[in-house]
Amino acid sequence: MRLKNYAEGSWVEGTGGGQPLFDACSGEQIATASSAGLDFGAMLAYGRKTGNRNLRKYTFHERGRMLKALALYLMDRKEKYYNTSYRTGATRTDSWIDIEGGIGNLFAYASLRRRLPDLPYFSEGDPAMLSKGGSFIGHHILVPKRGVAIHINAYNFPVWGMLEKCAVNWLAGMPAIVKPATITSFLAEDVVRDIIDSGILPEGALQLICGSAGNLLDFVEDQDVVTFTGSASTGMTLKSHPAIIRNAVPLNMEADSLNCIILGRDASPGTPEFDLFVKEVRREMTVKCGQKCTAVRRIIVPESYIEEVESAIRTSLHGCVIGDPRAQGVRMGALAGKVQVQEVLEKLQLLLSECRLVVGDPNAFDVQLGSAETGAYLPPMLLRQDSPMQASYIHEVEAFGPVATLMPYRNLEEAIELAQKGKGSLCSTFVSYDSEHVTEYTIEAATHHGRILVLDRESSVESTGHGSPMPLLVHGGPGRAGGGEEMGGLRGIRHYMQRCAIQGTPTAITAITQQYQYGARQNQGDIHPFKKHFEDLQIGETLTTHKRTVTEADVVQFANVSWDHFYAHTDATSLEGTPFTQRVAHGYFVLAAAAGLFVDAAKGPVLLNYGLDECRFTKPVYPGMTIGVRLTVKEKTAQEKREEEDYRKGIVKWLVDVYDETGETVAIATILTMVKMKKEV
Ligand code: NAP
Repeated sequence: MRLKNYAEGSWVEGTGGGQPLFDACSGEQIATASSAGLDFGAMLAYGRKTGNRNLRKYTFHERGRMLKALALYLMDRKEKYYNTSYRTGATRTDSWIDIEGGIGNLFAYASLRRRLPDLPYFSEGDPAMLSKGGSFIGHHILVPKRGVAIHINAYNFPVWGMLEKCAVNWLAGMPAIVKPATITSFLAEDVVRDIIDSGILPEGALQLICGSAGNLLDFVEDQDVVTFTGSASTGMTLKSHPAIIRNAVPLNMEADSLNCIILGRDASPGTPEFDLFVKEVRREMTVKCGQKCTAVRRIIVPESYIEEVESAIRTSLHGCVIGDPRAQGVRMGALAGKVQVQEVLEKLQLLLSECRLVVGDPNAFDVQLGSAETGAYLPPMLLRQDSPMQASYIHEVEAFGPVATLMPYRNLEEAIELAQKGKGSLCSTFVSYDSEHVTEYTIEAATHHGRILVLDRESSVESTGHGSPMPLLVHGGPGRAGGGEEMGGLRGIRHYMQRCAIQGTPTAITAITQQYQYGARQNQGDIHPFKKHFEDLQIGETLTTHKRTVTEADVVQFANVSWDHFYAHTDATSLEGTPFTQRVAHGYFVLAAAAGLFVDAAKGPVLLNYGLDECRFTKPVYPGMTIGVRLTVKEKTAQEKREEEDYRKGIVKWLVDVYDETGETVAIATILTMVKMKKEV
């Protein structure tokens, strides 16, 4: 079989013989891949012109629904990918992380649409007041970049590596060119074929390169974004590429990482934490044959428990059945290929120059249900180094396979120092039930890790484990780990968007952001806004209510109804040394009275009160003061129907400005209502 590239909207074969690709277990050649002959400049131009133009015009809600549809479509076909994935050496558990983990990312990013406006761009944070009079303000907006996201991926997660990145750039409104690592590109190609066949993505949203990246980076421009996952040396080459430097192209890098797991002093043998620790180490060494960017490479334990830990890990690894993942009972499959086995063995030699091998032997291990000759197999190998503060390779060399080093620490300070010796990693786990130790470790070690998992008897029940990057959390790490950041929920989409500060009148900023800004022009509507359907309400539309004088009886009655007898509302003699000069009305009374002023009582399109976003009581309201309300449409978000028989509706945010007889604001709040749409379809 010859893999094809998907370029400029067509499936095309590369020229030449191509690189042979092999089944990791049988060694049988299964495909060839070549990108020779592709016009990378034209692919990028097509991505910018067609894919970018198509995606950027969609709103976040439309893009999110597209991701969800795609996730459902791929989920229906997952068994096909599992079958292909066996050929990469992965067990079903390994493939679950890759395939369903990748599709899960699409779902997670699809759901984030609800936290974004139904617009192609969004405004970020709070406005900045830039003038005394309030006629000149500032804000920030983020718009999709006009280029292409180029993802150069590692071989270990051909599906997850692609989808965890594409989910983010698609939600942001950018198209992608994916270049999977060639040796496992047959699995990425399988998935991309279905994505294209689904017709869910607009034209140009995705292109695929199966084979070398060639001179692709020569053509990157200022609006493009590059992400890279792989070895630090390739990362360095890409980072220093002249076109990347010249055009200031952001390059997000995830590289080698000497991740560590630390056993807390409280987690002595016999505690649940000790057992959890051993289980986590076994999982990290064997899942995906240790070919995980987040896999534990350094196991750091109190010196007094090191013998027990070594023995427990040995016992735990003992039952690990290695072999062809298609066969029943196999716990650990093959590495991605013979070349990868060779690379691990070379790194192992370096590590062995300062460590002892205490579990596993690369020259003597059983391959059950498969052939050691043809397959890319290795056993889990535990090394030990008893003077880790003096050693260097254990903190510098990553053997990208089932290899980890056990080492002791004397006190927490030393454990933190050892963790930091990795010079930046993706993830560190601290296994302890002692909150003080956990806090000290986390605060001190956080500078050197992208993520820290605290594992104990309570969190273990639902913990996703050391090795799993989560879509809503940041994945990346400082220093050696590449200094990158992926995913992280909404943080991730910012990598594919340009932030622009905007300045102008509140009215101009309201028009751009589609959020009412305080001080902007208010338009008095012709009828009460509660009589209007969702579609008919305009941002900035305002109702100015009649007024009400607050009385002492109001305060007394509210105290009785609410049972809130706080002294400032009930005891006029207790106010010395307080901000109040008289018995003061409850803030919630002021808000409730405001509702009494602005609500239109008759049944209409407003279905319910949905709550409050923010609320401030800015000036005391005393009996005798008169209050009125300006109710302004601040923001509107359409809601999707969850069931066929649902109403079509949306959430309207209203700015409630309660002011007194001097015109000064006494309370300001954003309230939310659910409002019906006119159209039932
Ligand atoms: P690699 O050789 O650096 O390759 C990574 C990707 O870069 C592949 O797609 C590769 O394409 C491509 N590439 C290589 N040279 C290139 C160039 N000059 N220009 C453009 N693209 C280029 O790494 P690998 O051997 O696939 O991966 C293993 C290493 O990656 C491990 O040692 C591990 O440390 C690291 N890794 C890190 C993470 C992480 O998230 N931190 C995850 C997985 C792996 P070809 O396949 O066509 O060569």
